[in-house]
Amino acid sequence: KAFEGAVGVIGAGTMGIGIAQVSAQAGYDVIVYDIAEDVLAKAMAGLSKSLHKLEEKGKIAAGAAQQILSRIRTSTELEAFAGAAIVVEAAPEKLELKKSIFQKLESIVAPEAVLASNTSSIPITAVAGGMKSPERVVGMHFFNPVPLMKLVEVIAGQRTEEKAVEVTNAFAKSLGKTAVTCIDTPGFIVNRVARGFYGEGLRLVQEGVADLETIDKLARLEGNFRMGPFELMDLIGIDVNLAVSQSVYRATYEEQRYRPNPIQERMVQSGDFGRKTGRGFYRY
Ligand code: NAD
Repeated sequence: KAFEGAVGVIGAGTMGIGIAQVSAQAGYDVIVYDIAEDVLAKAMAGLSKSLHKLEEKGKIAAGAAQQILSRIRTSTELEAFAGAAIVVEAAPEKLELKKSIFQKLESIVAPEAVLASNTSSIPITAVAGGMKSPERVVGMHFFNPVPLMKLVEVIAGQRTEEKAVEVTNAFAKSLGKTAVTCIDTPGFIVNRVARGFYGEGLRLVQEGVADLETIDKLARLEGNFRMGPFELMDLIGIDVNLAVSQSVYRATYEEQRYRPNPIQERMVQSGDFGRKTGRGFYRY
């Protein structure tokens, strides 16, 4: 096996619990950390429900749900990561929070353990800045929903050593993912490319060139995309999408092509975040 050892996950939210699931499914022992017992209990109950549903539908073998769940331990103490070979952080998207987690972690885990962040838009170099061992910090950017999305971006920060990238690539591969490596650049690869997809769609609407339903339809029918830009923003969350746009805009010293669109800002101000609030560019 190219990668061996226990897997730590920080944050039992949307992404963290998905990362825990795929890791346990691949046979790893997993430790999931979150700030409170009730958050962990709720996340594990949700995972149990979805795994049992997969079992009922025959998508995973009989008995597999229980087996997968039995490989996952939870903790509210970072010390639980002492034996982990890799820790993937999926806590909220805040630089100071991520920095403080990583600084505490580096004195807990073994010296050769890799510390990975699932950040969508914070520079890995900034997360590792001020650490004693920045050479083992990488970006490991999964996509939502983690069990279904095959791609993982592995990002090397300014001080990341090749060894950490290799270990992370091997780990990603062992999860059945396709890993691509890139340097630390705002939005990495996927979120950079996607800025144009959303931004140009929003500009067409803003200029009155076409309505959003037409743009989505053309993207699907002629572009062969699974969803058009507006359908996809509603799925991801217009708030989440705007935050990534703002972050890329700031990180590129306000390059105008990344300027967040006022249409999107207005929707966030009114609380219309997309599917999760029942109302976005479309009604649900
Ligand atoms: P989420 O809000 O669903 O989950 C965050 C979890 O972190 C929660 O369970 C919360 O209790 C926990 N948390 C809060 N404070 C914490 C602390 N101090 N220490 C540890 N855990 C803490 O968020 P998410 O959507 O899973 O996103 C997590 C990370 O993954 C973010 O950096 C985000 O940018 C990134 N990401 C998200 C997506 C996505 O589509 N949601 C995709 C790729 C990457």
